[in-house]
Amino acid sequence: MFILFGFKTAVKLLFSRPDTCRYCKQHAAQRVEERATKFTLFFIPLFTTRRRYQQTCANCGGATELSKREKAALAG
Ligand SMILES: [Zn+2]
Repeated sequence: MFILFGFKTAVKLLFSRPDTCRYCKQHAAQRVEERATKFTLFFIPLFTTRRRYQQTCANCGGATELSKREKAALAG
């Protein structure tokens, strides 16, 4: 018998908002994404092992990691 397991990261766009980017200093859309790492068994995602939030600039692609609290504050 053999067991096939692994991890998979699912990226979900939560919302985007216009803001001044800290990297390129341009006023551009900042995408707030959720990156969930899931444990998979036979390619079937079973549960989320890790959930992170990230803000990505649509202009330069510069990414900043956000805490859950920061993400909630941005969502308003
Ligand atoms: Zn930028």
